[in-house]
Amino acid sequence: RAKEKGKNNFQIYTHALNAKALERLALENSLRRALEYKEFVVHYQPKVDTESEQVIGMEALVRWQHPKWGLVPPQKFIPLAEETGLIVPIGEWVLHTACTHTKALHNMGLKPLTVAVNLSAVQFELQNLTKMVSKVLAETGLDPQYLELEITESVAMQNVEHTLNMIRDLKAMGIKFAIDDFGTGYSSLSQLSNFSVHKLKIDRSFVSKINGEKDNSIIPSTVLALGKSLDLSIVAEGVESQEQVDFLKENNCDEMQGFFFGKPMPIENFKQLYSTDLNIDISKK
Ligand code: C2E
Ligand code: MG
Ligand code: MG
Ligand code: MG
Repeated sequence: RAKEKGKNNFQIYTHALNAKALERLALENSLRRALEYKEFVVHYQPKVDTESEQVIGMEALVRWQHPKWGLVPPQKFIPLAEETGLIVPIGEWVLHTACTHTKALHNMGLKPLTVAVNLSAVQFELQNLTKMVSKVLAETGLDPQYLELEITESVAMQNVEHTLNMIRDLKAMGIKFAIDDFGTGYSSLSQLSNFSVHKLKIDRSFVSKINGEKDNSIIPSTVLALGKSLDLSIVAEGVESQEQVDFLKENNCDEMQGFFFGKPMPIENFKQLYSTDLNIDISKK
C-alpha cells in the first residue's frame, strides 16, 4: 500500500513538474524566436538636470512586443533570458538599437543627449563585453562619451575584482558608468570609492519615501550625502511628485528620472516631446 501511495505521489509530482517545465519551454521558445521576428522594442525615459529641469539624457528600457500577449515588461522575461543565456544577444540588440537611436538624435543637430543602457549580470561576466561594446560603438558611430552603462549594486558586488577591471576597461574607452538601484545592496564605503564610477542611481524605494515629512527623508538625504562625499554624480530614480523634486533640489541631487517628468516611451514620441525642449538649448549656444 505504501508503495502504491508513493507511486501516486510521484505521478502527481511529475505531472506538476511537467506543466511548469512545458510552460517554461514554451516561453523559452517564443523568447528565442522573438529576436528573429524583431519583437523587442526599446523605450526611452527622460532624465533631467535637477537645476534647470532640462532633458539631458534618457534610459533605454527593453520591452517585448508579443503578438498575443501585448507589451511584456522586462521583469517578466529578463530572468528567463538570463537563465538561458539569451540575454547576451538580446542585450547586444538593445545596446545597438539605443546607440543607433541616440546617434540619430545627435544627427538632428540637437543638443547631444546621453543614453543609459542596463547590463545584466550575465553580460557583465562575459570576458568579451568590452569588445562587444566597442564593436557596437564603431557600427553605430555614437561618440562613447554619450553612452552610460548601468549595473546594479548587487551585480557590482558579486565579484569586486572583476568589476574593477571592467570599469577600468570601459572607462578607458570613454564610456560612463553608473551603479543602479543604489542602496538596495550591501556595498561598503571603501569598495564604493574603489569603483570610481561616475554615477549612483538612488533606488526608487528611497525616493518614494520622500513625502515632505522630515522623518521620512533621513535615509534619502544620507544616501545623497554619501554619494556627494565620494564626489559622484547622483541620479534619483522614480521621481513622481513636486515634493520629491523640491527635496532633491535642496539636497543637491544632480539628475532626476521618473514619471513626474515622463514615462518610458517609443523613440518617435521621445523625439516629438523633447525636440522643442532641446531646440531652446541650441539657440542659447
Ligand atoms: P531599472 O534599470 O532600475 O529601470 C527603472 C525602472 O523603473 C523602469 O521599469 C522604469 O519604467 C521604472 N520607473 C521609472 N520611473 C518611475 C516612477 O516614477 N514610478 C514607477 N513606479 N516606476 C518608475 P522597467 O522599464 O519595467 O524596467 C525594470 C527593470 O528591468 C529595470 O530597472 C532593469 O533592471 C531591467 N531592464 C530594463 N531594460 C533592460 C535591458 O535592456 N537589459 C537588462 N539587462 N535589464 C533591463
Ligand atoms: Mg537602470
Ligand atoms: Mg534603477
Ligand atoms: Mg530599479
